[in-house]
Parts: sequence; structure tokens; C-alpha cells
Amino acid sequence: MIADLHTHTTASDGELQPEELIERAREAGVEMLSITDHDTMAAYASIGDAAHGSINYGSIKIIPGIELSSIWRNTGIHIIGLNVALDEPKLLAGIKAQQSVRQRRAKTIAEKLAKLGFDDTLAGALRLAGDAPIGRPHFARYLVESGQIANEKAAFKKHLGQGKSCDVRNEWPVPETVIRWITEAGGQAVLAHPAKYKLTNLKLEELTTDFGSAGGHGIEVVCGQQDSRLTHRLGQLAARHGLLASSGSDFHRPGQPWAAIGRIAALPDDCTPVWERW
Ligand code: AMP
Ligand code: MN
Ligand code: MN
Ligand code: MN
Repeated sequence: MIADLHTHTTASDGELQPEELIERAREAGVEMLSITDHDTMAAYASIGDAAHGSINYGSIKIIPGIELSSIWRNTGIHIIGLNVALDEPKLLAGIKAQQSVRQRRAKTIAEKLAKLGFDDTLAGALRLAGDAPIGRPHFARYLVESGQIANEKAAFKKHLGQGKSCDVRNEWPVPETVIRWITEAGGQAVLAHPAKYKLTNLKLEELTTDFGSAGGHGIEVVCGQQDSRLTHRLGQLAARHGLLASSGSDFHRPGQPWAAIGRIAALPDDCTPVWERW
């Protein structure tokens, strides 16, 4: 089973339109796909009536999903909601609140960038975001486009990346809140890419404990092309905490081999896949 349950489109910070993403997923042999844009489910508006459960799109089963921003202690984390109802008022209200946070946060990010000598970044990033909820990648892109920084990687490494001065995260809701929105919409809450927060083993253990206590259902055991030892370690983490396991590429754009659609290893045998619940 190739289950890619973590992908992005132009509805957030990805480069492909939803239809293009689905077509590429089909070519890659993906059987189950979730589009999980940051704090929006707008992609689903263009791919048919998915409001009541999964959609069969040719050979692909599409699971309605979203990637919601949250804060745990002082670290920004991401929580994937899978198999959610697209018309649940409490989740829709949560998404609306997230988008207000994004608007306010963008102003703060622009102010912090201005203090570092970068000009006009709010207008530039808003233009690049268009209808999508504005995020740090739009700032990174604008800094490159306007010739103020060499490339996006450098923008994150120096200013926008985790823990840097323009990584504004204090207004995101706590995991309990985000998990409640997902649960109320009938979905499963999955802690996204647990290894990307660069936590110590002890902290990751505490995050996983807290996530489970807050009602979280699973963790992303496979995220893109990753070391098999990491997969093993995250599989053990899920099993130890009695959590389900998910897999996804975190695809944003073609040409990134470590995050190509559907290029994800199988889950370890001792894991219970999140899709066994569906
Ligand atoms: P935001 O939603 O505004 O918090 O931005 C988070 C997004 O920025 C992630 O989903 C990635 O797409 C992107 N991102 C985060 N860290 C990096 C990085 N170090 N290099 C490139 N992109 C990154
Ligand atoms: Mn992203
Ligand atoms: Mn993420
Ligand atoms: Mn993602």
C-alpha cells in the first residue's frame, strides 16, 4: 500500500494545483492520498464533493486532510488532521482563527525582518501568497525575488527557520485545541514529522506523551525519504505510546527527491497504520 498522507498544493505553500498533484500521485502509484495544506482545506473545493468522507478519484482514494500549526512548550509543531469532515463548523472556525493568526504573525515577521534591514517584505510576501494563507516560505521567496538574500535555504537558515529571530510561533494554539478541532470533525490527529523539531530523545518522548494525553491518535513514522534507522526509531516510539502510524512525503514541489510524491518506505511491521481505522 503506497499511502501518501502528507502533501501540499498551491492552496498553501506548494507549487502544484490540486489536480496536477493528484495526477502525479497516480503516476507514482499512490493508492491513498491526502492533501494536507497548512491551515486550509481550500484544495478540496476544486476536487469534487469530499464533504462526507473519502473520495475515489480514479484509482486513488483521497482522504480529506489538513496540516495545522500548533505550539508545544516553546516549539512550533505541526499536527496533521486526517479523514476529517470538510464541513464541520468547529474545524472550520478553527481554520478561520488560524488564518487570522497568520495575518497578524505576518506583520510581526515583517517588522522583525525590517529591523534586520529587509525592506517591504509584508507587501511582497502577501503578493506571493495570493489566496493562500501567508507563511514563512512566502517571505523567503520574496527575499530571494527582491535580491535581498541569495536563496530560500539561506533565508530559513539565518532568519526564518526554527528558533531563529523571525520564527514567530507564540500565537499558535496548544495541541489540545488543535486535536479537539480534528476530533470534532471525526478525524485522526497525527503528529507531523516528529524528527524535524530537533528535540532531544527525552523531549521527543515528552512531546509524544503529551500528544497522546491530549487525545492525539498517531505520529508520522515515515516522512519522505528518511534513514531506515529513523523509521525504526519512530515506529518504536509510536508502538511504545500506543499510537497509530502514518506515512507521507511532505511533498511541496517537483525536483526535491527527498520529498517526492509517493516515494516513502513501508511502515515497520510492528506499527498499526492509521488507515486501518478507516
Ligand atoms: P509556516 O507555515 O509559516 O510556519 O512555515 C512553515 C513551512 O516553511 C514549512 O511547511 C516548510 O514548507 C517551510 N520550511 C520550514 N523550514 C524550512 C527550511 N529550513 N528550509 C526551507 N523551507 C522550510
Ligand atoms: Mn510547507
Ligand atoms: Mn510541517
Ligand atoms: Mn507539510
